Amino acid sequence: MTDVRVALALSGAVGRHGQLQAIKPLSLTIAENEVLALIGANGAGKTTLMRMIAGLHSFAEGALQLFGQDVTAMSAHDRVKAGIALSPEGRRLFGDMTVRENLMIAAENGRRGEWTLPTACDAFPQITPLLDRPAGGLSGGQRQAVAIARALVANPSVLLLDEVSLGLSPAAVDGVYQSLAGLRGKMTMVVVEQDLTRAMEFAGRLICMAEGVLELDGNPATLTRDQITNAYFGIHKTAEASHA
Ligand code: ATP
Repeated sequence: MTDVRVALALSGAVGRHGQLQAIKPLSLTIAENEVLALIGANGAGKTTLMRMIAGLHSFAEGALQLFGQDVTAMSAHDRVKAGIALSPEGRRLFGDMTVRENLMIAAENGRRGEWTLPTACDAFPQITPLLDRPAGGLSGGQRQAVAIARALVANPSVLLLDEVSLGLSPAAVDGVYQSLAGLRGKMTMVVVEQDLTRAMEFAGRLICMAEGVLELDGNPATLTRDQITNAYFGIHKTAEASHA
């Protein structure tokens, strides 16, 4: 049996926004090269969790290990150097800069490796004709592709993708997922996806959060729609039984 390495290990992670405990003590391990989809209703805590892993939101309690190294106290910048890259919700590109400049900055701040501007353009061919255009003028789908490529050129071992299909046309979503499929087996991916069908098709593991709690963790091929819907709305079996 081959040993599967643990890429990310969260233990007792708590995330707060002031008084609000947006992430309740949460423990989770994600294997090397695993593709995990994170789903949940608005306000479930998905973005907060992704930002905590990326080092953009501090841990109120608990810890994060990356391949066995404790990175809880590490800055976001250092976590990029250690191999964690986030493509954030809302994309957050530098709008006045060209696509090329956006990618070059990310490459300079990241790790060296197989992902460079040319290889990222091979993976996301829709970017090539856009390289010299200001990022601010791109469509939603184009911005998303650039945002993911920007994370990619940092050569992450863990790629975090927040709200992949939000606001994109079906054709743009298809294009982005086609490119993401090519990254399978090369890195660990955690994808926040509001399109459940898409999440279940793409990921080998699905987790669902509700109000900061991990409600469901399983293989999309064996989970039922009912299980997922209940988890999505935070409906527990015991509550169901008492209403029966
Ligand atoms: P969405 O799909 O709407 O992005 P989400 O699952 O990503 O939702 P979060 O954005 O992580 O959820 O929000 C989790 C909780 O934290 C929510 O109750 C939200 O209102 C709260 N929250 C998020 N950001 C802030 C903030 N900057 N200040 C205060 N509360 C916040």
